[in-house]
Amino acid sequence: MVPAAITDKVVDELATHLQSGDTIIDGGNSYFRDDRRRSAHLKKSGIHYLDVGTSGGVWGLERGYCMMIGGDKEAVDRLDPIFKALAPGRGNLERTPGRDKLGGTAEEGYLHCGTSGAGHFVKMVHNGIEYGLMAAFGEGFDILASANVSLKKGQVDAETAPIGDDYVYDINLADVAEVITITASALAGYTADGWVAAHRALVDAVKPSFVLLTHTYQTRDFAPALASALDRALITDCTAIKAGASGPLFTRPMFQGKLAADVRPLGDAPCLVTMQIGAYRADAARRGASPAPLRALDVAIDAATIRQVPEAPFREARQAVDLSQAERIVAVGRGIKGPEHLPLAQALADALGAQVAASRPICDAGWLPMERQIGSSGQTVAPKLYVAVGISGAIQHVVGMKGARTIVAINKDAEAPIFEVADYGYVGDLFEFLPALTAELGSDAVKGG
Ligand SMILES: Cc1cc2nc3c(=O)[nH]c(=O)nc-3n(C[C@H](O)[C@H](O)[C@H](O)COP(=O)(O)OP(=O)(O)OC[C@H]3O[C@@H](n4cnc5c(N)ncnc54)[C@H](O)[C@@H]3O)c2cc1C
Repeated sequence: MVPAAITDKVVDELATHLQSGDTIIDGGNSYFRDDRRRSAHLKKSGIHYLDVGTSGGVWGLERGYCMMIGGDKEAVDRLDPIFKALAPGRGNLERTPGRDKLGGTAEEGYLHCGTSGAGHFVKMVHNGIEYGLMAAFGEGFDILASANVSLKKGQVDAETAPIGDDYVYDINLADVAEVITITASALAGYTADGWVAAHRALVDAVKPSFVLLTHTYQTRDFAPALASALDRALITDCTAIKAGASGPLFTRPMFQGKLAADVRPLGDAPCLVTMQIGAYRADAARRGASPAPLRALDVAIDAATIRQVPEAPFREARQAVDLSQAERIVAVGRGIKGPEHLPLAQALADALGAQVAASRPICDAGWLPMERQIGSSGQTVAPKLYVAVGISGAIQHVVGMKGARTIVAINKDAEAPIFEVADYGYVGDLFEFLPALTAELGSDAVKGG
C-alpha cells in the first residue's frame, strides 16, 4: 500500500524481483484505469496484479470494514485464506434488514468484485455514496486550502494527490477557487460560434449557478447566442449585484439610464449575466494568501462548425492624451449640440486650467479626437474636479469618471442620471450658464489655484 504518486515506480521495481505466478496486491488508492493498465503489463510476465480497495468509513473499526478485490479469479482464490484472515468477519453484528442473499464472503467483509480494476472501481462507488455529502464540503474546502499545493516541495504522502506543476495559477484573489482554461486552435481568433462552443463546454463541465461576463462588444455578440443555445436567461449591462430574499439581484439601467432596475433571474441555472466594465473596481479586489489552482479543460472544438471569419479586433480609443493625470476636466456631451459650440467649453476649461474631454457621441462624431473620450470604451479618470456639460450620465460614461473627487453637472433635465453622481448641479440651459460661469470665474482667478 503506497501513495498513488509512486505506485507505478514501486510496482515496476517490485516486478523485477518476481517471477511468473507471483502476485502483487495494490491496497492503495490507485485509479481503476491505472490498475487495468498495470495488470495488462504484468500479465506479459505471468505476474498477477490484484487491486484491493478497503473501506469502512469513519465507523470502520467499530462496525467492520470491507475489502473490495479486483483481478484474476485464479489469484484471488489462491489468496482467499489471506483475505479471510484480514477481513473483520461477521461478528455479532445484526444483519442488514431486507438482505436476502446470506452467506458468501461479502458478509465476512471481503468480496471479489470482478476483473482487474473492479476492486478500486467498486471502492470508488462505495466511497462516492458513503462520503457524498462529506466530500462535497470537504473537497471544496480542500481546493481552497491546497490551492498552491504544487508549489510546496515535500515528501510524497498518501494524502496529497499528484496533481503536477500546472496546478497553480498566480491570480491570488481570495475568492477564486479555481481558474479553468480552454485552449483550442479554433479559438485563436474571436468568432461567436467558437466562443459559444467553448462556453457551452465550460458550463457542461462546471455546472455553475451563474455565468458572469464582461459587457464588451464581443460579449454583446456571442452572449445572446450562448443563452439561446443553453436555453437560459441572460441579464445584460449590469452595474451591481445585490443580495435578494431568494437569491442575487442584478441592477441594470433601463430606458436610457433613467431607471435602475433590480432584476431577478427566473428558470434553471445557470443564469448568464454581463457586468458593465468599471462596475466594480479592480483595485478593490481582495488578495488571497495563496494562488488559485489552474485546471485545463480538454475541449474539442470543430473548426468546421464555425461559420464566421475573424477580422482584426475593434480598437478602443487611443490614449495619446493622458487625461488620467489631469487635475481638472471639463467634459462635454451631446447637449453641446454641435462642434461650433465647443469654444464655450474650451473657455470654461481655460478659466479652470482644465483639460477638455467628452462623452462618446462627441468623439464618434469627430467633434473631438477619440483620446478625449471618457468612459468604458475611453479613458478612466479621477481628477479633483469634473464638470459634466450636457452629459446625461449613461453608465458607460459614469464608470469612467465616477472616481472624480468633485463632480459638477450642468444639464437642463433635472432627472438626468448624471445628477445621481454629482456633488453640485445646475439645472438649466448650458448656453446661458457656461458663458456666465466662465465670466464669473475670470481666467486668471482660478488657473493653478
Ligand atoms: C458598449 C458601449 C460602450 C460605450 N462607451 C462609452 C464611453 O466610453 N463613453 C461614453 O460617454 N459613452 C459610451 N457609450 C455611450 C453611452 O451609452 C451614451 O450613449 C453616451 O454616454 C451618451 O452621451 P451624452 O450624455 O453626451 O448624450 P445624451 O445621452 O444624448 O445626453 C445629452 C444630455 O444633454 C442634455 N442637454 C441637452 N441640451 C441641453 C442644454 N441646452 N443645456 C443643458 N443640457 C442639455 C440632455 O438633457 C441630456 O441629458 C457606450 C455605449 C455602449 C453600448
